[in-house]
Amino acid sequence: MSKRIIFTTILLLFTDTVSAEWFSNNFKVMGTQAHIEFWLDESAKVNSTSQQLIVLVQEEMHRIDRAMSPYKTTSELSLVNSKAGTQAVVITSELFELLNESQKIAELSDGAFDITYASVGYQYDYRKKQKPSQASIERALKAIDYHAVILDRAKSTVRFSHSDVKIDLGGIAKGYAVKRCLELLKIAGIKHALVSAGGDTGLLGDRRGRPWYVGIKHPRAEEKTAVKLPLSNESISTSGDYERYFIEDGVRYHHIINPKTGDSARKVVSVSIIGKDSTYVDALSTTVFVKGLQEGMAFIEQLPDYEAIIIDNQQTLHVSKGLQRNKSL
Ligand code: AMP
Ligand code: MG
Repeated sequence: MSKRIIFTTILLLFTDTVSAEWFSNNFKVMGTQAHIEFWLDESAKVNSTSQQLIVLVQEEMHRIDRAMSPYKTTSELSLVNSKAGTQAVVITSELFELLNESQKIAELSDGAFDITYASVGYQYDYRKKQKPSQASIERALKAIDYHAVILDRAKSTVRFSHSDVKIDLGGIAKGYAVKRCLELLKIAGIKHALVSAGGDTGLLGDRRGRPWYVGIKHPRAEEKTAVKLPLSNESISTSGDYERYFIEDGVRYHHIINPKTGDSARKVVSVSIIGKDSTYVDALSTTVFVKGLQEGMAFIEQLPDYEAIIIDNQQTLHVSKGLQRNKSL
């Protein structure tokens, strides 16, 4: 082989390995850790560099956080919470649609998922180990009812029928953000990607000929993984009682609230939902957590497009029928 041929071969090998590759990035947003991974090939590279795509995803997550965070006084959500108790507030179509989806899931779940849980939810401070007294829980329960959130599509407004109502999108906004980011990557020509925010993960395609492996955290051993699932082109969301909590007198007070009692839901310790839509799997994981094992599993079994993995408070793992049929698990 001549020197020239050897040189050309090396050059070709070199250009081939650098022309398409995996990129990943970690950043903090919405009070949690976000992670992205994507395969950037020649065709997508024509439009964007890896750095531009990373910034695109980061900025989208921060944009949604700025609009929907209950902790930012300037967010659209905070504006709604301060005004909708006394007047109809005009909102963006994006917030309108997310409120509308939240209301659909509230209806479907018979109020297990209810964004008005917030009137009591905002009285918990897990970092400071503070919880509301039974008397203030009982007062707040009067304002927990998703029927009190009145949406007017023609006017794009929201109004609360009770002045004490507050709403919070913590059970659905991260899944929505993951969905939006995957859509943006898809538009940019990306075919293989993973986007996660805390316990919410969305997948675009597979990991180039093999599945992605998404782990479900062990609920009582932070560094351990309870199960790893091979998934492609799906979303998975995990709700756990270990994310934000404190323990007082042996009782765990955590961030998933039963809207009927105003107390943390304690029937199970971890719920993962798998399905196509990141927004829905996020809201459904919170929903099934509130419902518990029997009711939650029955609820998921009647939804054809969603599967569940539930870890009960004896740390036993239960999977929905669709997953039992799936031989690859
Ligand atoms: P996730 O992170 O998806 O497990 O959802 C938990 C978050 O959802 C909490 O931090 C709250 O912001 C919110 N949340 C808690 N309880 C409920 C509920 N019953 N309905 C709707 N959202 C809830
Ligand atoms: Mg959720």
